[in-house]
Amino acid sequence: MIKKLIRRILGKKQSPADNTVPVVLGPKEHGIDPRLVSSNAIRVTQTLQEAGFKAFLVGGAVRDLLLGVKPKDFDVATNATPEQIKRLFRRAFIIGRRFQIVHVMFGQDLIEVTTFRGTTSADAPKDAHGRVLRDNTFGNQHEDAVRRDFTINAMYYDPADQTVLDYHGGIPDIRSRTLRIIGVPEARFREDPVRLLRVVRFAAKLDFTIDPATREPIKIMAPLINNVPAARVFDEMLKLLLSGHALACLKQLRKEGLHHGLLPLLDVVLEQPLGEKFVRLALASTDERVRQGKPVSPGFLFASLLWHQVVEKWKAYEASGEHSLPALHLAADDVLDAQTDKLALQRKIAGDMRDIWAMQPRFDRRVGKSPYKLLENLRFRAGYDFLMLRCASGEIDQEIGDWWTAFQEADDTGREALLARKTRPTGEEAPARKRRRKSPRSGAKAADQAGAGSSGAERTGPADE
Ligand code: ATP
Ligand code: MG
Repeated sequence: MIKKLIRRILGKKQSPADNTVPVVLGPKEHGIDPRLVSSNAIRVTQTLQEAGFKAFLVGGAVRDLLLGVKPKDFDVATNATPEQIKRLFRRAFIIGRRFQIVHVMFGQDLIEVTTFRGTTSADAPKDAHGRVLRDNTFGNQHEDAVRRDFTINAMYYDPADQTVLDYHGGIPDIRSRTLRIIGVPEARFREDPVRLLRVVRFAAKLDFTIDPATREPIKIMAPLINNVPAARVFDEMLKLLLSGHALACLKQLRKEGLHHGLLPLLDVVLEQPLGEKFVRLALASTDERVRQGKPVSPGFLFASLLWHQVVEKWKAYEASGEHSLPALHLAADDVLDAQTDKLALQRKIAGDMRDIWAMQPRFDRRVGKSPYKLLENLRFRAGYDFLMLRCASGEIDQEIGDWWTAFQEADDTGREALLARKTRPTGEEAPARKRRRKSPRSGAKAADQAGAGSSGAERTGPADE
């Protein structure tokens, strides 16, 4: 207690340049609502502390708590080693080979526990452009803080005494809504260019202003992203697109000049007027789903972002004499091949994208058994949501979307009527023939399956309920 008091007094008196001693804030000063802290995160810090270790919430969770927002997940930092952490919990798993972290599980809830990292040594191995390749030493808390990316992401919260430890002026930056990188911006972007994407994500998501010194080198350093392994870029891009602020993030990427040459995907998306409305609608509906806590499928998202590139190539193949369906598949191959180099689209995601694209021409066939077959497709819901985006963006006639909405909702008789309406040439009276009996595949069963396709694990598209 006395030690804490001394630290608090010392902390407050530190010179601003001394980043080895934290400024310590009590509950009245930081104003964090303890009810926003997950009980499982508290169990983790408490267990570690009772075993004699230091343990704090850290990173995005502390930032969000200070902003009065309920964090989506909780990370814990400690001076216990991964082995020591693992021994204290019933369901704890050491993850990663180089820098090990521990996943502590409580049912579905995951708390990520990391041992404090040491400072980056000058002789850590780097690539030709200065990107640090390996640097995995353990260290103490102030060394851990200096390795984090932004001042607002480098604060520690101890739920036991409800103090916040701030080594890099994160609190004043939170208050002035400023995003500031820790250390020399050029050096920090060079050692890990993924931080260029992170600046954009946080600025857009939090609606913070980027500090001018942090912002200045971004444009010049943008090409460094090209040397980062594709899988890491993909992970960071996915975080950006699923942040609930994807549209704002993409606008900010363009503003910072980061979309150019950064990813072929973004070049395509942001510089193609034809597809812009489509992408805008897709991202707006994704953002809406994320904010409502609904699941979003990465396959649907990337299928949307790249659709107009597919359409362009599809038309070109058709113009060169290919039949429509093979032309579409060739176009899909081209687009997926071009992206995999940079974006490392996982096989499952690429498969989902292809399914959604390949389904589109099938929506044109509104006669006979075809529509019933399509309803039974496990991916129908994603394909239908995608079709609705195509209608809303003006790419195709709204009438097609309306027809499919009606067809899904109709009972057997209604479906037959819709099919008859479609088959009948315009202007003609309905033929007075007896309605065909429904096939065993149609009707309630098909409706059930379409329904099943739109719930739980099969739920895919952003516009899906
Ligand atoms: P979000 O709420 O969006 O997940 P976050 O701040 O938790 O935001 P994560 O990507 O989950 O972001 O990272 C957790 C923490 O790890 C960050 O707050 C930061 O302290 C640190 N961190 C993550 N990536 C980097 C990086 N590339 N360089 C330095 N520090 C990083
Ligand atoms: Mg996080």
